[in-house]
Amino acid sequence: MSLFEVVIIGGGTAGWMTAAALAKFLPQDTHRITLVESELIGTVGVGEATIPHIRYFNSMLEIDENDFVRSTGATYKLGIQFENWGKNGDSYIHPFGVHGRDFPLLDFHHCWLKLREENKVLPFDNYSLASMAAKHNKFMYPTEDSQSIFSSYTYAFHIDAGLYARYLRRYAEALGVIRREGKIADVLLDADNGNISSVVFDDGFTLQGNFFIDCSGFVGLLIEGTLKAGYDNWSHWLPCDSAVAVPSEKVLPLRPYTRSIACEAGWRWQIPLQHRTGNGYVYCSKYISDDDAKDQLLQNLDTPALADVRQLKFTAGRRYESWKKNCVAIGLSGGFLEPLESTSIYLIQVAIMKLLELFPHSEENPLRRLYFNKFMKTEYELIRDFLILHYRLNSKSDSAFWNYCATMEIPSSLERKMALFEDTAHVEHYSLGLFMRPSWLAVYLGQGFIPKEYDLRTRHVKNLDFRLTDFDNLIKNSVAAMPDAQAFLAKIHGDEVGQCPAATLSLYGRN
Ligand SMILES: Cc1cc2nc3c(=O)[nH]c(=O)nc-3n(C[C@H](O)[C@H](O)[C@H](O)COP(=O)(O)OP(=O)(O)OC[C@H]3O[C@@H](n4cnc5c(N)ncnc54)[C@H](O)[C@@H]3O)c2cc1C
Repeated sequence: MSLFEVVIIGGGTAGWMTAAALAKFLPQDTHRITLVESELIGTVGVGEATIPHIRYFNSMLEIDENDFVRSTGATYKLGIQFENWGKNGDSYIHPFGVHGRDFPLLDFHHCWLKLREENKVLPFDNYSLASMAAKHNKFMYPTEDSQSIFSSYTYAFHIDAGLYARYLRRYAEALGVIRREGKIADVLLDADNGNISSVVFDDGFTLQGNFFIDCSGFVGLLIEGTLKAGYDNWSHWLPCDSAVAVPSEKVLPLRPYTRSIACEAGWRWQIPLQHRTGNGYVYCSKYISDDDAKDQLLQNLDTPALADVRQLKFTAGRRYESWKKNCVAIGLSGGFLEPLESTSIYLIQVAIMKLLELFPHSEENPLRRLYFNKFMKTEYELIRDFLILHYRLNSKSDSAFWNYCATMEIPSSLERKMALFEDTAHVEHYSLGLFMRPSWLAVYLGQGFIPKEYDLRTRHVKNLDFRLTDFDNLIKNSVAAMPDAQAFLAKIHGDEVGQCPAATLSLYGRN
């Protein structure tokens, strides 16, 4: 029996994540996996902040977490600090964890809203252990004991994207993935059914395949260049279309969180790694020139730059069909949502998981395609709405860009969610996709979107203010007992941290 030939085009994060996962789960006696990449073209090279789901991906591959942390220059991440987003000077954290402790039948934030009216609360952040630990540069593994406050958060990583791709390459090659260096110059179709039959390198070499995975980055070499899947352009809702990025020296003390700092025509990121800091400015080119964005990025670095500034251009949106004919697009070839909530690697991961679930045995798979495309649409749209929320909720009046964002039309799906919260303080529940109630609450309340009403049952909770004070004390004492993030990380190198907890997402999102 001939082998089922799987061809992956692209060796960035998407390509090597896909290759590693397929190599782990597809039987080697029936499938051959070949990955094509071009050093000349290179990779996008950014993509360093992750969300907790990456721990699932790694554990699925049976990767040792401590080895991963050592090998990818990773640091621990408890959330994202949003600075200047509501209005200039504001700051809040979207943590990988919950705020407060829910009361029987009653979500914590309703009680916080009631006491807020009486001026008896601290900022919402103060009731989240993950947020307060992050603000104090503390980190330790969460516990699995659900009675403990230390089970109220989870964690992710900041990683060096280049090192992660190399790490996965070693993993995939050890499992038999064949890597081919070279530039694809042409893509050939089967005249009978319109499927891709082979790719042709610029030196004339032809590689045939039964199933193709397009991980070629923004260009979408197969999915768009050849198959014309079409692009749903969301730039009217997410107008940032450019970024400049530069690494700089390490910032100390080590912060266990990503920083996202709103500025004139977008926002800047700061991502701490073990050996350097990742910095970038995501902006809308209608409101600031590339040169000014670059200057602002360089002027605001906390440490000296280590390389030249890189420029990237993009359009927010997604392919109408992520899976078309015998080709699936994974990574930037499938769509792009700006890195405000570090979701691109997550989108790569869920596409891989779904592809594994539906992996085809032949070249004709209309039902699998349909299901896959519907699934990816939902994932993209839910993240899209959550990102737009951050922009929409700004109350800055000092820039044309922010004014546009505060007044632009938003998708009806988001309008409905916001209206429900504004009216009732309830967060719309959905069963698929990313970002659960704690995430929506962090952004709503962090950016000052205070509902008109809250749950009337709060009146029946006795000693509410004492209970919140007690909880605040518990958080303060717990933070004081945690080690510095830098000290915890240092122990990784001596293998002294012990076994990391199992990857759990119950606090943050589904997989
Ligand atoms: C400014 C910015 C910041 C980001 N920050 C984050 C973040 O913090 N967190 C996060 O999760 N994500 C982030 N992302 C997204 C993240 O970088 C990508 O999702 C991730 O790197 C995957 O990229 P990729 O592998 O799809 O594409 P690429 O890295 O572009 O790789 C494409 C591959 O295809 C190959 N290729 C292309 N054309 C050809 C050809 N003709 N022949 C042969 N090979 C070819 C290239 O050589 C390369 O190997 C960010 C993206 C941008 C633009």
